[in-house]
Amino acid sequence: MRVTCKYEYVNNSIEEFKEQLRKVGLRITPARLVILTLLQNHSKPLEVRSVLRLLKASAPDQATVYRALSSLTTCGLVKAITLKSGIVSYEIANLPHHHHLICERCGYVEDVETCCESPRPRVASFTIVNDHRLEFSGICNNCA
Ligand SMILES: [Zn+2]
Ligand SMILES: [Zn+2]
Ligand SMILES: [Zn+2]
Repeated sequence: MRVTCKYEYVNNSIEEFKEQLRKVGLRITPARLVILTLLQNHSKPLEVRSVLRLLKASAPDQATVYRALSSLTTCGLVKAITLKSGIVSYEIANLPHHHHLICERCGYVEDVETCCESPRPRVASFTIVNDHRLEFSGICNNCA
């Protein structure tokens, strides 16, 4: 199976982020903008501790980061992903459809385009099937 890691990343400007915040009824705050930008600039989901580390000195305090992630997730601008490891990671919501490949040893995660090609299941008790989850796991270069 070929796993590819490249797709056209979305590239929202600060103005577009502001517009998105307005649309979902969230106040425009520096913390929300800085988190959206950070998540957009990373090609993989980030745990809260990585968000805090990457924001470094410019970081709003920890409680603000947690609150911002939570409101952004609730409003659908950010996606919370629970990987097999049980750790919740965050990524920008409007990425193209993709899945995650996670290292079984260290938890390192990459986005991958590979998808299951089978059609949506038809189940008598379901009117609509919207979405699916698919998670790959393996051993990263560092751990191999
Ligand atoms: Zn690894
Ligand atoms: Zn992803
Ligand atoms: Zn898929």
